[in-house]
Amino acid sequence: MTGPKIRLHVEQPLAAGQAIALSEAQANYLFAVMRLGPGAAVHLFNGRDGEWQAEVAEAGKRRGILVCRAQTAPQGAPPDVWLVFVPVRKDRTAFMVEKAVELGAARLVPVSTRRMNAERMRIDKHQAHATEAAEQCEATWVPEVAALQPLERLLTGWDPARRLYWADEDLARHAAGGDPAAPAAAGARAGAPVSPPARGERAAILIGPEGGFTTEERALLRGLPFVSPLSLGPRILRAETAALAALTLWQASAGDWR
Ligand code: SAH
Repeated sequence: MTGPKIRLHVEQPLAAGQAIALSEAQANYLFAVMRLGPGAAVHLFNGRDGEWQAEVAEAGKRRGILVCRAQTAPQGAPPDVWLVFVPVRKDRTAFMVEKAVELGAARLVPVSTRRMNAERMRIDKHQAHATEAAEQCEATWVPEVAALQPLERLLTGWDPARRLYWADEDLARHAAGGDPAAPAAAGARAGAPVSPPARGERAAILIGPEGGFTTEERALLRGLPFVSPLSLGPRILRAETAALAALTLWQASAGDWR
């Protein structure tokens, strides 16, 4: 194959000989932006049927047809880790969504907290970022970006079998030599959760807003049996850095980075 591998997420079923009619946006991307013509190869995935090599059969300005030739990868699945985050500024949230998909998060769950400081969140835009990231990083699935909901509501309906790693910025202050007697700091070391994540566990990582968690939110989190406080070292990270660092730690010890 010459040139970069071009991957496209589609909704249609994929099977040998299956014809795929492109949307206007897809046709524009393949034929106007990437300048493909008839006979060119494109890789397709839909989150169910693995990855398929397809060939451009018809290339129009606003439409086009691809035909599936052969499966090039089986259907995969990410490890079962969610990123629960508070939307920050639009471009930083987009960055966080993109990187979380690349790092192998299975689901992105935006929550609102008291100190949330963001304009209204466009879930459809962020879902599109997630799809683009999946296309780029050769995943065969696209993580769902859930609807924005209050943190308290999410915690009320939480499945206790899913462990929630709470990236707690207060632990950074203790790690840096602050009040060593704070209960949340007990047993938490920089870069390591209170007890190590286990392979195959269902997990989620909670990252707070730029303004941090309030005293009430901290008390709520501390009282929940499925919550494990997580320190990310002695410096206060921006929310998007914290999300990447926490996902990296979890993936390296319990995820699919073998
Ligand atoms: N302004 C807040 C910090 C917010 S940082 C304050 O001064 O307290 C944004 C989020 O990133 C935090 O809510 C936390 O979830 C995460 N975070 C940042 N640095 C961290 C660290 N060193 N350890 C654990 N979590 C951290």
